[in-house]
Amino acid sequence: MIVAVDGPAGAGKSSVSRLVAARLQARYLDSGAMYRCVALASLEDPDHTPAELAASIQIELGSRVRIDGRDVSAAIRRAEVSARASEVATDPDVRAALVAQQRELLATGDWVAEGRDIGTVVAPHADLKIFLTGSPAERARRRGEPVNERDVRDRTRVHSPLQAAPDATVIDTTDLSLEQVVERVVELAATANGGSQDA
Ligand code: C5P
Repeated sequence: MIVAVDGPAGAGKSSVSRLVAARLQARYLDSGAMYRCVALASLEDPDHTPAELAASIQIELGSRVRIDGRDVSAAIRRAEVSARASEVATDPDVRAALVAQQRELLATGDWVAEGRDIGTVVAPHADLKIFLTGSPAERARRRGEPVNERDVRDRTRVHSPLQAAPDATVIDTTDLSLEQVVERVVELAATANGGSQDA
């Protein structure tokens, strides 16, 4: 089964998705980490376009994130990389390269995939689509950085803007604990999967 978890920065996507994946014994896809890898590569190599880099670098996801074998798990979380990620993510060629890799991963096995366009573009056939939201103040508090500029860019870009799929369940996480959100998504997944909690 595929569970798509989309939403703005700081809505709780990563924490929720990791825990839901563990509960469902599914794998976890952090699509944002891929945009962050292209962003880091482009900050380090201004001679190549983000699209060229997206097509040439080898991204490894898992407990550590690697670009061409180099561990970049910490480097891709820097604030300047966050900002650059939402810039390179406006480029349709960057998106096409990364979406192709994401679809290849999602083609086999059970997944909880998080991002901005999973339910709308990457996996419109997902068994369950969740759109997490939260008040701007609470999301900024969780991220430890203002997320507004990035959100506006993500929501207003021409290609695959951040938006809830029409068939997504919207969960406002502002006043919910992490455990409450996880429980709700696991329940929805069980229903989507025909009443069993097996992925
Ligand atoms: O989720 P995360 O904050 O790590 O994503 C970093 C940036 O990557 C986002 O602000 C967004 O611009 C971009 N992104 C995207 N599509 C995805 C995942 C992330 O455009 N599926």
